[in-house]
Amino acid sequence: MAEKTLNVLEIAREQVKHACDKLGADPAVYEILKNPMRTLEVSFPVKMDDGSTKSFTGYRAQHNNACGPFKGGLRFHPNVCMDEVKALSTWMTFKCSVVGIPYGGGKGGMAIDPTEYSQGELERIARGFSRSIAPIIGEKEDIPAPDVNTNGQIMSWMLDEYSQATGSFQPGTFTGKPVDFYGSLARTEATGYGVATMALEAAKKLDINVEEVTIGIQGFGNVGSFAGMYIEEFGAKVVAVEDHTGTIVNPDGIDMKSLMEYNKIHRCIKGFQGAEATEDKLFSMDVDILMPCALENQITSQNAGDIKAKIICEGANGPTTPEADKIIYDRGITLVPDILANSGGVTVSYFEWVQNLGRYNWPFEEVQQKQSVLMKNAFEDIWKLAKDYSVDMRTAAYMMSIKRIADAMKLRGWYT
Ligand code: GLU
Repeated sequence: MAEKTLNVLEIAREQVKHACDKLGADPAVYEILKNPMRTLEVSFPVKMDDGSTKSFTGYRAQHNNACGPFKGGLRFHPNVCMDEVKALSTWMTFKCSVVGIPYGGGKGGMAIDPTEYSQGELERIARGFSRSIAPIIGEKEDIPAPDVNTNGQIMSWMLDEYSQATGSFQPGTFTGKPVDFYGSLARTEATGYGVATMALEAAKKLDINVEEVTIGIQGFGNVGSFAGMYIEEFGAKVVAVEDHTGTIVNPDGIDMKSLMEYNKIHRCIKGFQGAEATEDKLFSMDVDILMPCALENQITSQNAGDIKAKIICEGANGPTTPEADKIIYDRGITLVPDILANSGGVTVSYFEWVQNLGRYNWPFEEVQQKQSVLMKNAFEDIWKLAKDYSVDMRTAAYMMSIKRIADAMKLRGWYT
């Protein structure tokens, strides 16, 4: 069975439709949720280091704000396009609802490879993008954050530019900022910490002792690296890691802190001394838990049948296709879906925003503790719902979040 589509917007809609049907939701609910409420495409000029001027294009999709301001990251990656941004904004709506934080969903990005630009050019691109989307974002309207290939420095430039454009300083307009500039402690670690926490919860449900668990991670960016570091702290062994330069293995466990150091310097895992390079495919390796922490459409009908892991914990957004989902469910593999597994990032973005609005800072432990409680509660609720309705955890997560959004939309009078 090959994939019906690899278009992520069609996939996102299919997931929402499937859960709406299971829930028996009013047809108006899917009708409203199938499209973002607003999208914006911008083009703006940037002066390059060689004196030339180049035009850059950026996108922002605002999916739904029934539960609060639009919220979600900005991605810099060559694959970015309007459909991808729309799909990612859809997933954000449900992600925020899953953990019960008062936001809707948004997402944006630009189709660029940031490694092709100097720091100065990157700053001017970020500022141009911020200025161009300034009319539709805001602390109470739409709050961007980092995503693939964007970070706290980029958020700082964008916030500065936004403040200059609007003439008022509202630090909560962007989250994922550096700790020294209105960021929150434990935000950088948050997505990976959440992925590790969710993997541990799933292991407990299956009576698997974390001390005996082996892990394979795809992607070693912000999400994959911290997921690895925390799951190692919880007692598991990360035996395989794959990034865009290849796959490395060590049956005794790859030391996560050393690999993070190496990765910081070399910007890849290739050549790391504490493991061996292999041509084997990560997704068919004999590991207990797989953490796809890179991009969309990685687990498909082509490789889902080869998976040996008992648990898949999705650090990336949309790494599994609907066809692969079915195979995984039928094979009895537990999959913790992206909108729950990687919700730690936006959860701590919310805590950052709350701290910004109150001009107050919480200690690291307090932030992480609050994150852990929210995510573990969501996990419990979704686990139970999945059992009660005999559905996979993704469908259960959508059912739970759609119900909340549908209730809010009904109270607002968006449908009767
Ligand atoms: N980009 C992250 C995500 O996909 C975080 C979004 C945010 O903090 O708003 O969930």
